[in-house]
Amino acid sequence: MSDRQPGFETLAIHAGAAPDATTGARATPIYQTASFVFEDVDHAASLFGLQAFGNIYSRITNPTNAVLEERIAALEGGTAAVAVASGHAAEFLTMHALMQPGDQFVAANKLYGGSINQFNHSYKSFGWEVAWADADDPASFEAAITPRTKAIFCESIANPGGVITDIAALSAVARRHNIPLVVDNTMATPYLIRPFEHGADIVVHSATKFLGGHGNSIGGLIVDGGTFNWAGDARYPMLSQPRPEYAGMVLSETFGNFGFAIAVRVLGLRDLGPALSPFNAFLILNGIETLPLRMRRHCDNALEVATFLARHEAVAWVSYPGLPEDRYHALAQRYTPKGAGAVFTLGLKGGYEAGVKLVSNLQLFSHLANIGDTRSLVIHPASTTHRQLTDAQKSAAGAGPEVVRLSIGLEDPADLIEDLDAALRA
Ligand SMILES: *Cc1c(COP(=O)(O)O)cnc(C)c1O
Repeated sequence: MSDRQPGFETLAIHAGAAPDATTGARATPIYQTASFVFEDVDHAASLFGLQAFGNIYSRITNPTNAVLEERIAALEGGTAAVAVASGHAAEFLTMHALMQPGDQFVAANKLYGGSINQFNHSYKSFGWEVAWADADDPASFEAAITPRTKAIFCESIANPGGVITDIAALSAVARRHNIPLVVDNTMATPYLIRPFEHGADIVVHSATKFLGGHGNSIGGLIVDGGTFNWAGDARYPMLSQPRPEYAGMVLSETFGNFGFAIAVRVLGLRDLGPALSPFNAFLILNGIETLPLRMRRHCDNALEVATFLARHEAVAWVSYPGLPEDRYHALAQRYTPKGAGAVFTLGLKGGYEAGVKLVSNLQLFSHLANIGDTRSLVIHPASTTHRQLTDAQKSAAGAGPEVVRLSIGLEDPADLIEDLDAALRA
């Protein structure tokens, strides 16, 4: 091969994978084993001391998971990655490597609802404070930064309302204050947006959604951009201070531009334990092979369905950045020219009752709490995921009583449109 870098479609199929050295198996085998035999006592000692790379126990590394890790690192353009049990585990282990009790981070206020819960409530038990900033206003992030701020967190395309984040503007804020920018790239996937190219330092994923793509496995990924300089920075002791677990080793010195990924693995994953099953890693790997094809079709279908709904007499508004009149259209053209994703919300003129009726009348759309499946999905947040909130809180979260969220699948868009039209008219 020439000096040419392989294209995204090639990496999606080949990165990290090779025919199995002993059996010749072409598909990546599922290494369904808890442990790995040491060559001898010295080999075991060097693995435990981090002097050699190799497998000890599948909570920390596994060869099937390693292929997935290499593949997502290649697709995102990062230095290394860690596969974990879920998207929430990816967020948690990222924060665990960055935060100490009493520390704070600044997060965009438009996020996946589960992330809002995790940050507001569960993180309190670790002494980690979240400060919320306006996803559309980089200055509000800067205003929330204190001497204890350890990170900025946002989504590239925010769930559920089709918000496109100005990642470069948030990166400029993060760089001015010398803190890392963490981007949840679940909704975009690296096919649509590669956050490191816009100044992100760490990328996290729920692989449960478009990466796996078939609604069959929970998984998460953390990708190290290799961009942040942790060395000698006492604010990040996991990375910059001698680790008693490893004979005083300083991870940022020993592992350089993939020190963050190593810290997540040998401190977070090792001690907290949310390991990804190799079977799920296998399913997510298979999903990623067709990611470029699927994302193109997801985006085409979503644009067609959104265009139809925007003109429908029962629909008050559609929030999809792919539509020319959408308030995020200019940012979408800059950050995601190949398509604006496949998840969006619409508001029904008939309010709460109309939302309940729509989800009940749809035949082809599945009524459930997930996104990024081959199948089209629908949920009415006000009667489900956001039901405990007041009406004012619901509206602030983009989940007012009239709001319905769609995740557009890979079916024939004419069938999706007919299903929606029939349910809206019923
Ligand atoms: C689903 C989701 C998560 C959480 O991921 P799980 O795999 O469900 O734990 C985090 N962020 C976003 C944007 C999501 O859509």
